[in-house]
Amino acid sequence: MSDPLLEISDLHVDFNTYDGRSKVINGVDLHVDEGETVAIVGESGCGKSVTAETIMSMLPQPPGEITGGELRYRGEELLGDPPAHKRVKAESMGMIFQDPMTSLSPVFTVGEMMRDVLTYNGKTEVGWLELGKSVLGRRGADEKAMRERSIELLDRLQIPDPEGVLDRYPVELSGGMRQRVLIAMALLGEPEFLIADEPTTALDVTVQDQLIELLREQIDREGLSMLYITHNLGVARRIADRIYVMYAGEIAEVGTRDEILDEPLHPYSRGLIDSIPKLTAFQREGIDGLLPDYTEPPQGCRFHPRCPAAMDGVCDGEKPPLYEPADGHQVACYLYDDQMNAQDALEVAQTEIEFEGGSLDHPEVSSSLGDETAAESADRTEMNEPTSGQTDGGNR
Ligand code: SF4
Repeated sequence: MSDPLLEISDLHVDFNTYDGRSKVINGVDLHVDEGETVAIVGESGCGKSVTAETIMSMLPQPPGEITGGELRYRGEELLGDPPAHKRVKAESMGMIFQDPMTSLSPVFTVGEMMRDVLTYNGKTEVGWLELGKSVLGRRGADEKAMRERSIELLDRLQIPDPEGVLDRYPVELSGGMRQRVLIAMALLGEPEFLIADEPTTALDVTVQDQLIELLREQIDREGLSMLYITHNLGVARRIADRIYVMYAGEIAEVGTRDEILDEPLHPYSRGLIDSIPKLTAFQREGIDGLLPDYTEPPQGCRFHPRCPAAMDGVCDGEKPPLYEPADGHQVACYLYDDQMNAQDALEVAQTEIEFEGGSLDHPEVSSSLGDETAAESADRTEMNEPTSGQTDGGNR
């Protein structure tokens, strides 16, 4: 088997806060293979974005501090070599941010921002002469090629009148259009590895559906590898090959999309799925409690104060190791010992873990995002119908 494209081993990240030292990432192992789309799912504050920032060398240090672990890209260790990390990030990685309104500059047009991405793509340092030329708009013959490339990308993201959009400011576009612009900008530099940090969170469900489809198309077309961060299991089902379930800075479970969503083993994974509101069950209880305080995290399994299957004297002792009941399906939970096979593990999950909300009803995970009708509706609402306060002209 070939080496993974990206591999994180035993990552630890702390933050210094007024309340003390916060142990936000506690021994995360994760890998993404070439051409694979991997999702990290978990509730807000579980450490998904901190993991992404570490990979992208964007972790604010201080207050953040990487206290241990390795990050290898094509076998090259990056955490101990900041210049190499910067180079790999510039040459090979792209990122789609969560909120286009704060990620796009309000004082530059879409065309100016895309031109800057193309000008500085792949560079870790920029000289004063080059910077001066850019500021004065003297980029010579490249200017035309950059404009054509920008139009091509906007067109691929199905933005109507891409040439006109280049001259618009972000505030003149709808939320869905701004997010498409962000995706186009992330693809401009032709990255081979993409991180998408909840890129559809701020959008309504119909636009989400359409954007996921577009992103999927671009990933397949370019043969990219992607790490997709989301708290929405419906989105994960649509886009991921494998899923990591993260809880309180640790990996709770990892497996293929079908293993995690159809046969989840970890009590937290089962609780997450059980928490999805369903039209057929109005009294979902989900998971009681909140994420722990990272300055004083619970001893042993960090989920034990909320776990319906917690065992006194076991789960509050040492951090559970990752057991592997099926090849590649790993779970950090004492309910599954080393010798257990997939069938036995599933029986344990079904008999030992019961949330008050009732039994799991997996098919509805897919409908939490939207269905075909929603996608069709998105075509109508996103592409054609203007909303008040936005310049339309077909480009909302
Ligand atoms: S190790 Fe114990 S507390 Fe943690 S998820 Fe498993 S059963 Fe629950």
